[in-house]
Amino acid sequence: MVRSPREHSLELAARLGASAHVCEVMSVRALSTSLSEVTLRGGALTLSGQPGNDVMVLVGGSNEHVVRRRYSVRAVSSERDEFVLWVTTGHDGDGAQWARAAAPGDLVDVIGPRGKITLAREASWHLFVGDVSSLGAFYRMAESVEAPSQVLFVIDLAHDDDALTTALPEGVGVTGVFVDRGTRAANDPAGLLSGLAALSLPEGVGHAYLFGEFAVMRAAARALAERGLRAEDVSSKAFWRAGRSNAAHGEPVKTDD
Ligand SMILES: Cc1cc2nc3c(=O)[nH]c(=O)nc-3n(C[C@H](O)[C@H](O)[C@H](O)COP(=O)(O)OP(=O)(O)OC[C@H]3O[C@@H](n4cnc5c(N)ncnc54)[C@H](O)[C@@H]3O)c2cc1C
Repeated sequence: MVRSPREHSLELAARLGASAHVCEVMSVRALSTSLSEVTLRGGALTLSGQPGNDVMVLVGGSNEHVVRRRYSVRAVSSERDEFVLWVTTGHDGDGAQWARAAAPGDLVDVIGPRGKITLAREASWHLFVGDVSSLGAFYRMAESVEAPSQVLFVIDLAHDDDALTTALPEGVGVTGVFVDRGTRAANDPAGLLSGLAALSLPEGVGHAYLFGEFAVMRAAARALAERGLRAEDVSSKAFWRAGRSNAAHGEPVKTDD
């Protein structure tokens, strides 16, 4: 039987210049307290784009009020037509609920590729600043860095076991700082800023990627500007906002009302 995405998914994909596919859930696996790995089959090569890109998953709502959530692609297998998402499930929300309830054989509309931030190939070092929601994007991007570049991570985490790691290509230098959030609020940048301050940045032209909580990413961007990084060498994207649900199309709310 040919499965086709819903009409509203096809329309949105056409508007965005992206593709819509019906994907099948192949597996769901808890990786840590906050993260689950969801493997999807279908349209993998098209949907997954470049390292740094994400997909929009139809996670809930009704035909009148559709809820989509954006998740970065962690890995792709073209042979199996599969791709992997690392989804945060430690909070309550439609996306987290979808991932917690997902089971092999489920079908879901997925739109992709989305996102404008990919690896700055000309940079000689790459600084990744974020939290557990950004690990999937960061590790896929870092795995595509070529030697002899250097990669640096500063990641704010609420749970020790969220400090997942990955293997990077031979010859790529790695520095990683996992900051324990402790009792600080998720939108308190103090921990991440102290992690950043502890890091000396390499010589040469680097690029910083800031993916994570709205207020924390703003503070991190300011701190990097103060350290002399040029605006064009910093790519920042708020993934979520403490205390506020993302909008139905998947973006964090940017206003304060
Ligand atoms: C381009 C892009 C790529 C993204 N990639 C990923 C990814 O690869 N993996 C991933 O997990 N997320 C990713 N996100 C973030 C994810 O889409 C949001 O966290 C989304 O809000 C989760 O939806 P939800 O329905 O579960 O929660 P929502 O309904 O949006 O929020 C419900 C409540 O949970 C809180 N909340 C939301 N996310 C978190 C969190 N991570 N930690 C703690 N509290 C939270 C909110 O503040 C709110 O109070 C990405 C977002 C964007 C824009």
